[in-house]
Amino acid sequence: MNEIRNSGRDSYILDHNDYLRPNPNFSNPNRASASFRFVHKFSQISRNRAGFGSKTDRARIAISASSSSCSSASEFDVVVVGAGIIGLTIARQFMLGSDLSVAIVDAAVPCSGATGAGQGYIWMAHKTPKSALWELAMRSKSLWEMLAVSIQQKGMDPLDVLGWKKTGSLLIGRTSEELAMLEDRVELLSKAGLKAEYLSSHALLSKEPALEIGKEGGAAFIPDDCQIDASRAVAFIEKENRDFTSNGRYAEFFHDPAISLIRGSRSGEVEAVQTSKNTLYCKKAVVVAAGSWSGSLMQKLLIESNISLNVPVKPRKGHLLVVENFNSFRVNHGMMEVGYVGHQIAASHPSSSSSDLVDNEQNLSISMTATTDAMGNLVLGSSRQFAGFNTEVEDSIINRIWTRAGEFFPALRELELSNLSDSKKVRVGLRPYMPDGKPIIGPVPGLPNLLLAAGHEGGGLSMALGTAEMVFDLVLGNITKVEPAPFAVKGRCCN
Ligand SMILES: Cc1cc2nc3c(=O)[nH]c(=O)nc-3n(C[C@H](O)[C@H](O)[C@H](O)COP(=O)(O)OP(=O)(O)OC[C@H]3O[C@@H](n4cnc5c(N)ncnc54)[C@H](O)[C@@H]3O)c2cc1C
Repeated sequence: MNEIRNSGRDSYILDHNDYLRPNPNFSNPNRASASFRFVHKFSQISRNRAGFGSKTDRARIAISASSSSCSSASEFDVVVVGAGIIGLTIARQFMLGSDLSVAIVDAAVPCSGATGAGQGYIWMAHKTPKSALWELAMRSKSLWEMLAVSIQQKGMDPLDVLGWKKTGSLLIGRTSEELAMLEDRVELLSKAGLKAEYLSSHALLSKEPALEIGKEGGAAFIPDDCQIDASRAVAFIEKENRDFTSNGRYAEFFHDPAISLIRGSRSGEVEAVQTSKNTLYCKKAVVVAAGSWSGSLMQKLLIESNISLNVPVKPRKGHLLVVENFNSFRVNHGMMEVGYVGHQIAASHPSSSSSDLVDNEQNLSISMTATTDAMGNLVLGSSRQFAGFNTEVEDSIINRIWTRAGEFFPALRELELSNLSDSKKVRVGLRPYMPDGKPIIGPVPGLPNLLLAAGHEGGGLSMALGTAEMVFDLVLGNITKVEPAPFAVKGRCCN
């Protein structure tokens, strides 16, 4: 049931997701002239900024009115721009690890970016020991595991709450070249302390009888790899964060894009984020976690500064095909063809083992990924292409994903995709691609209270909790658990 709130001038509905939206059934005679749009769910309201001198770390909110229009301003310790998995987990880290207040802003709503499309693999199988990403991915995975355990200890089922499944992962190869690579990978992962096993064709088929890989085929099996369901995990994190709204420590501003920064005239420090509807003052830090939009947004935010920054994040479009209530065969583990490892890293040289390069300009590549999600749906992936910010579903790509999956699962060749229209769902998202394969996490040189956390490409779900912890420690000046230097802004986005 929707809850209705009236602000005096406008009426708002607290919808099933607990977002405040204008009430379409409420007719307000003043609406045409009133630009007052701010309704908040927090307890501490002051009429002007004079009250901001108090020592409390809670959010303080000021509303100023003029005869024809009103603007609203609020003050928080931290303002996070972008409510994808990265922004939301950063907010969570501040909620749980400190008594600081956080505002989170999104141009749309959570899951509208890459996060809502993600397959959910929390995997180490395709990460390389001693690479820059390794420590961050390891730390992040163990934080997800701890979260799953803590949910269980509270009497809930992590499968229901996060879509959490310890499926184990299978990296699948079909040629002697790929198998040699998989054997090396198993050795490498084992030396790094992970449980990893090489499976011959026979052993692989006993785990996944629906596969067809030929006598030559085999796999690297990492039994401790897991998966989440991004929508469930986001819903849980949002709920956790919202537990702090009643004491004024947490606020969400959705459908309200950040448009500029307000900087102190003397210090030059960032003082506030101007959104389309609100001015959000920040006492400690602003964190830009706007995924694929981070590059263009930073350009816009710094346009009037003398800081020269080029954040080379690019949207890398991905399609996933979900077949609901699939029961033709079972997929027991998370799977990925080994060609994926190559095309994830080297955009310009996709592995010849993944599907052909069909469009040189967009660098389209398709590799088979397959898993069963928390609802029992078959999730098949995935494509990668550079197509700007276009998020339209391309049927030709879905057909190629289906055909590629059919090369591994012969039972799919018996089914016509066109006959599955009732059970077929497509997810499209823009992975925030960084040319050097590493996310950017850290302060902007020259503006130490402005931080970036973006560019996780195809690994943002798995690296979210580790990223959030790193941002939290950097803002508070703590020693970080993972060395932040490889992710620094300096040297990658500016000199
Ligand atoms: C098909 C596919 C499969 C994937 N599979 C996996 C997987 O198995 N495992 C894994 O770890 N990762 C996976 N990923 C990658 C993962 O989804 C991303 O790395 C991750 O979601 C990025 O999160 P983010 O918060 O940085 O970006 P996003 O989720 O894109 O969030 C950015 C947010 O910023 C907001 N925004 C933009 N501009 C503004 C503005 N001006 N003001 C305010 N807000 C703004 C957007 O509305 C958006 O909500 C996959 C991605 C795709 C597309």
